[in-house]
Amino acid sequence: VVSIDHTASPLESAAAIVEGGGAVQRAIATSKAYELVRALTDEAGPRPAGSPADARAVAWALTTMRAIGLEQVRAEPVTVERWERGVETAELVGATPQRLAVTALGNSVGTPPEGVEAEVIEVPSLDALDALGRGPVEGKIVFVNATTARTRDGSGYGATSLVRRQAAARAGALGAKAVVIRSVGTDHNRLPHTGSMRYGQGPARVPAAALSAPDADLLHRAVASGSPARLRLVLGCKALPEGPSANVVGEVIGSERPDEIVLIGAHLDSWDLGTGAIDDGAGCAIVLDVARQLARPEARPRRTLRVVLFANEENGLSGAKAYAEAHKAELARHTAALEADAGAGRVYAVRVRAGEGAEALRSALGAALGPFSAVAVAEAANGGADLRPLRPAGVPFVDLAQDMHEYFDHHHSANDTFDKIDRDAIGQAAGAWAAAVRVLTDSPLTPGRAPEGPP
Ligand SMILES: [Zn+2]
Repeated sequence: VVSIDHTASPLESAAAIVEGGGAVQRAIATSKAYELVRALTDEAGPRPAGSPADARAVAWALTTMRAIGLEQVRAEPVTVERWERGVETAELVGATPQRLAVTALGNSVGTPPEGVEAEVIEVPSLDALDALGRGPVEGKIVFVNATTARTRDGSGYGATSLVRRQAAARAGALGAKAVVIRSVGTDHNRLPHTGSMRYGQGPARVPAAALSAPDADLLHRAVASGSPARLRLVLGCKALPEGPSANVVGEVIGSERPDEIVLIGAHLDSWDLGTGAIDDGAGCAIVLDVARQLARPEARPRRTLRVVLFANEENGLSGAKAYAEAHKAELARHTAALEADAGAGRVYAVRVRAGEGAEALRSALGAALGPFSAVAVAEAANGGADLRPLRPAGVPFVDLAQDMHEYFDHHHSANDTFDKIDRDAIGQAAGAWAAAVRVLTDSPLTPGRAPEGPP
């Protein structure tokens, strides 16, 4: 169902934010996003789902939402998987022993205390691994050496994050003893990148870890030398019993259509190695800053703006699933959903995924984002991991694409810390978000339900 009032300007409210020149400068000067990332990362720290720091982050989010004037602020309980890192070492053994910088992948089983040691077999991809079959793989440590491409839109992550997620299941099924992958990252420092992996249905559950890029290069040269390369891997990581966490939710109740909900989300949890500043402290800060701006009495939106800081995006999407389940009766009243989980870079494009009226919405958003030098593109919005469970209900998605050139240098590594946040860039992003969200909350355009199926 679409209602488009062609006589009204969908840009009136957006114009209130971006009137005149200097929209970017004004956004940078007035945004609190930079300070919000600092507060979350300094005051909660690294916040793996279900950890004491995760609980501190939930408390921080509740306090912050109330302080910026949100209504209906609450923690909606979520049960989360928990997993804990332990000792982690990798060593090339033989005539020239070398320590390699390594980190366990999230959900991996550990090794026995003495570790596993075996000859390494290297493959460039999961397809190449499958093609080998059991013979050459059985009893070996599989090394998947796939490089993540640096791109503005972050698309290089798709292929190599699949390697990270599936390598252990596929190597384990072929009888491998363990798996190491080249870190899913675009840097060349010696800090490895973690991230979630999953085992298959079969009984084989082999340890899985990531090497830093320089150490992956070293292992590659050792394998290429012709004489067998042997690796010893020691991982002390383990799963813990499930525990409590929460989605933290707050609203700015709409003045005219309070039952219609525009959802803006980010995830509150992070990996343990850094402090989760770019992933996803920045996203939390952006959506909180947008809500702060719309919560001012003179700025109240026509539709309800709902902020959701999701639990456990990184290691099981528990918060996303719990939200879709708890709110299924009102998903038909979610007129748009957006997720900020792409770091602290500048917004450069907007994408829409909606039914009838998508084109009109796309042009309204493009016009609102013009002052921020961002453009509307025809490609359909993806929505982000936490919004995926809303797809079957046809909730329209809007993506605000941020510059991710440098994002995967730090993502999921010990280098994901507050100093990586650029004050001007995150200020621009928060300003662009606010302008786009204002169109969605106030425009007479109500986009039709998004079609099922890909993309
Ligand atoms: Zn994230």
